[in-house]
Amino acid sequence: MSHRSVHRIFASRARRGLARNHRRVLAQQHKRNVKRTTFRDCARRCVYCGTALGLDLATLDHVYPLSRGGTHDPGNLVAACQHCNQLKGSMLPNEFFARYPWAGANFMRYARAVHRNFKRGARRAVSLACAQAA
Ligand SMILES: [Zn+2]
Repeated sequence: MSHRSVHRIFASRARRGLARNHRRVLAQQHKRNVKRTTFRDCARRCVYCGTALGLDLATLDHVYPLSRGGTHDPGNLVAACQHCNQLKGSMLPNEFFARYPWAGANFMRYARAVHRNFKRGARRAVSLACAQAA
């Protein structure tokens, strides 16, 4: 192996490392931006219990859980407090709203940027729960 080829390998390896690092930084920035945007779109509240949150206390919740095939699409993301996020767990939105109609009611009010199918589903679940309670 000549001196030059050794140098080339080192250089390319360094470049790859740098690119990887850069990608990671970009991913972190992206995540922060997504959180900030989602938080703003959710009126800086937990969309389920309606509690006003600071950015540090807010968590990102996937309305349709990742574990059930949900995506990172902005229309699938809402801000939630840790408690509600845990309460919801891997429940589908309709299951969650049927069990906790108050969460559905707040969701309709605060999850403004979420996919409209979710809002429609929340409205249906809440009115169904109200009809059963009456
Ligand atoms: Zn909450």
